[in-house]
Amino acid sequence: MNWFAKIMYGRYGTDQLCFAMLILVFIMQLVYAFTHWNVLYLLAAALSIWCIWRIFSKNISRRYAENQKFMHLTAPMRRWCSSKISGMRDLKTHRHFRCPSCKQKIRVPKGRGKVQITCPKCRHEFVKKT
Ligand SMILES: [Zn+2]
Repeated sequence: MNWFAKIMYGRYGTDQLCFAMLILVFIMQLVYAFTHWNVLYLLAAALSIWCIWRIFSKNISRRYAENQKFMHLTAPMRRWCSSKISGMRDLKTHRHFRCPSCKQKIRVPKGRGKVQITCPKCRHEFVKKT
């Protein structure tokens, strides 16, 4: 067992909450660099201490529960972000249309020229350039 594993033995370690806190600390420091708001500096320091304390904590089940709560609370936000990211990737390969009759969103591969699209919901047919 190396020295690091020895130190970390029986301790909680990092998790998603820890990662989110570090990102927040980084953002706070960035904002502080521009604004010099002391409160941000203190908050960032407090948050990093809290984060380190969590990593070395021996109360693993408690830390795990905290992380679960964090994951649960941020689930809608994370879903929204990942849908935005996949949507952005999609822009290169697909085009999005709305059905003129029922407003259903339809995804069509790009670069097929003029195609006839059939709405999967209401079977309305319309022609679009892709
Ligand atoms: Zn439709």
